[in-house]
Amino acid sequence: MSTMTEERRAELARRLEAVRERIAEACAAAGRDPDEVTLLAVTKTVPAADVATLLDLGVDAFGENRAQEAATKVIEVAQLRPGAGPRWHFVGGLQRNKVRVVAPWTRVESVDSVRLADALAAAVRRAVDDGTRAGPLPVLLQYSVDGDPKRGGVPDAGLLELADHVEGCPDLRLDGLMAVAPLGADPDAAFTAIADAAARLRAAHPAATELSAGMSGDLDVAIRHGSTSVRVGTALVGERRITSR
Ligand SMILES: *Cc1c(COP(=O)(O)O)cnc(C)c1O
Repeated sequence: MSTMTEERRAELARRLEAVRERIAEACAAAGRDPDEVTLLAVTKTVPAADVATLLDLGVDAFGENRAQEAATKVIEVAQLRPGAGPRWHFVGGLQRNKVRVVAPWTRVESVDSVRLADALAAAVRRAVDDGTRAGPLPVLLQYSVDGDPKRGGVPDAGLLELADHVEGCPDLRLDGLMAVAPLGADPDAAFTAIADAAARLRAAHPAATELSAGMSGDLDVAIRHGSTSVRVGTALVGERRITSR
């Protein structure tokens, strides 16, 4: 291994340890079992080599937010670590002409419209037919806390209607809710609203128990409000290293 590779590995190991400690402390403070909260490493703009190193360090789930970039990276990681079987989660705005890329993935966390759900379901059906996936695709509904359409997410008024629609798609499996706290908002208030929405979703769809909430800056607050999956980028990998590809 080159010195640079070794240094990067040591940095990722140190950052991972710190993130795991934060999760454990937040769980302890909230009286929750740390096993209830999974870590999703958000590796957008991060090279495949870093994903391979994180796999070596025991991280097994990765989040990406651009289908094009991710399509290449998934192939590169499979070449770097054959058989490692990383779980890929899509967490960004998804164009309907890119659904084919994510149809074989572990989970899509950003379903926010009936049109997207339908396009995704059709792509999953084709993936099942051609053998690139075995069963329905687990999805989360992305919830918009402030209803701002620019940042994606379904606003409050449409949440349960979208949930009913997804429930009716045999190729999708409704697992829960994902949300991003709006920038500059009081995180406590934002995660209270997010937890409320998750509870309403669960009341209507008891199997939809997952709550993907919390990032580098606010994972502690999100865990206090019931997050079952934190999506951590910067705290884990440092500042973004490549801006586009
Ligand atoms: C980038 C991103 C994250 C990670 O954010 P950090 O602040 O870097 O931890 C989490 N969720 C989504 C949807 C993202 O796009």
